[in-house]
Amino acid sequence: HALLRITDLAIDYRNGHRRWTRAVRGVDLHVEPGEFVSLVGESGSGKTTVVQGALGLLPSSARIRSGSIVYSGVDVTGWNDQRMALVRGNHVGFIPQDPNTSLNPVKKIGQQVIEAVRFNERAARNASQHEEAALESLRTAGLNDAERVFQQYPHELSGGMKQRALIAIALAGKPKIILADEPTSALDVTVQKVILDHLVRLREELGIGVLLVTHDLGVALDRSDRILVMRQGEIVEDGPAHQVLENA
Ligand code: ADP
Ligand code: ADP
Repeated sequence: HALLRITDLAIDYRNGHRRWTRAVRGVDLHVEPGEFVSLVGESGSGKTTVVQGALGLLPSSARIRSGSIVYSGVDVTGWNDQRMALVRGNHVGFIPQDPNTSLNPVKKIGQQVIEAVRFNERAARNASQHEEAALESLRTAGLNDAERVFQQYPHELSGGMKQRALIAIALAGKPKIILADEPTSALDVTVQKVILDHLVRLREELGIGVLLVTHDLGVALDRSDRILVMRQGEIVEDGPAHQVLENA
């Protein structure tokens, strides 16, 4: 089974009373075990809509009009918010764009990772095991001083460390696949590179599949097994980096 297979996806946004605008159409996409796939395209081409659709995180003004979303053979198309929250906690990890809006400013990092650990149905039940699993996620996200970060609040961390905390939350459910939507857009260039290379390492060391959304083809080129190019709501290219570069 593919870790994620999206077939013929079409999504509309409401733009007025009974008026809908199609944002993406005919989207076919798959991520195989251990594969690093990038979804690239200009701003407005539909990348975020596809990823939010796959995660069950579309705004209420959006509707999936056709297509299917299947994780490791399980068809989750049409599942409600509650069931999709479990899918996110157990099958797919999501790394959002901006730690400043995605982390809770008044909760310690450790608490936020533990909440994600608890959502994992396969996780152990007692508190000390939750804490140990949270520390392990922080370390896997590249936070070597995990015990210290565990006790800190988001504002005490640098941008790169906050982004790593988001990676730890995404890893807490031990997913086989991670979806990352412009995960470094809030960071400066050198930190961006380190974070993206960390995603590559998760693929290499843990075999986690990655779907990376980026507007920057350069970011995708030397890290991806395969690159998908979106234009005006459709995937217009799907192939290895060198092929996509030749056709660019
Ligand atoms: P990208 O992630 O590639 O920048 P998006 O998925 O955000 O593209 O947007 C795709 C299209 O859907 C754009 O035309 C955008 O204006 C439209 N769109 C995105 N979000 C909304 C929304 N909440 N309401 C209405 N239209 C939206
Ligand atoms: P809640 O209000 O219940 O926390 P959320 O939508 O914020 O609802 O998250 C639902 C659950 O999904 C969380 O409790 C957590 O276990 C899991 N979760 C949160 N963020 C992520 C993520 N980035 N990747 C995977 N699972 C996540």
